[in-house]
Amino acid sequence: MRSLVDGYLSHIMDECHSDRSGHVADYIPELAAVDPEGYGLSLCVHDGHTYSHGDSATAFTIQSVSKPLTYAMILKKHGAAAVDAKIGVEPSGEAFNEISVDDRRRPKNPMINAGAIFAASMLLPPTRDVDAAAVDAAFREVLEFYSGCAGRHLVMDEEVYASEAATGSRNRAIAYMLDSFGALETSPDAALDLYYRQCSIRVTTDDLAGIGATIANGGMNPRTGRTVFSNETAQRLLSVMTTCGMYDGAGDWVTSVGLPAKSGVGGGILAVLPGQLGIGVYSPRLDEHGNSVRGVEVCRHLSTDLGLHMFNVT
Ligand code: GLN
Repeated sequence: MRSLVDGYLSHIMDECHSDRSGHVADYIPELAAVDPEGYGLSLCVHDGHTYSHGDSATAFTIQSVSKPLTYAMILKKHGAAAVDAKIGVEPSGEAFNEISVDDRRRPKNPMINAGAIFAASMLLPPTRDVDAAAVDAAFREVLEFYSGCAGRHLVMDEEVYASEAATGSRNRAIAYMLDSFGALETSPDAALDLYYRQCSIRVTTDDLAGIGATIANGGMNPRTGRTVFSNETAQRLLSVMTTCGMYDGAGDWVTSVGLPAKSGVGGGILAVLPGQLGIGVYSPRLDEHGNSVRGVEVCRHLSTDLGLHMFNVT
């Protein structure tokens, strides 16, 4: 059985290999310098077994694939009602870094930068003068939680973090806009610092598949047997990933792939088949929405060939 699956996965990788369209993220030199040919695929199934193909051991920064995890943390910490009062759950139909809010001045959802920066702020002490030690402490909790989801100890890429922090005018604009509405309880700079750090955590496709399998399993990592979040949280993550995870490419994604997913500009995509498995794909060339071109293609093939679309009625 396992060799059958492995044969099929390497066949899919070969099929999508020749697509060299799209561009590597270049807003910071560290991302522009990655090998554009990097290409990995991992599948983690319910018993924790992971099928790994291509560059499945190559580390890249998690970037926006971090957003559902921080969202899970604030749901756990504050409860859904308090979180909903601050961050919406409507797809925005806009770019991930759009400077916009809904008519209640909330970020439209937690999968775009505005919602993710707000979510990071909710992990910090609710005071305007958050010191460096408090940001360090919050980041330790982030690393521990993300590591629990992946099933192994994760670390941050210091260079990417330093560059994100030095160049993040757009994200600063978003955080200061939220602050101007009086929405943030913490300082915008502390929220940004924590957000840049979470985006700079290094993962592999094996990690993304493990995180996906944890979400698929209702918060229990199948490799370690450890429960890191609740069934209710898993259901909510799957919902917002379905409607908002692929940004302004979400409608096309749901129609053609039909799996809850989250992409990041580092080139990673995490997709989930609820109750069954987690998928991690890596290929750093991105389409116009900031989603990995080959990552989307691989998931499209997987979904079509294996009938994984969540609305499959055959
Ligand atoms: N660090 C990136 C940013 O904040 C993450 C965006 C993404 O992966 N889409 O702009």
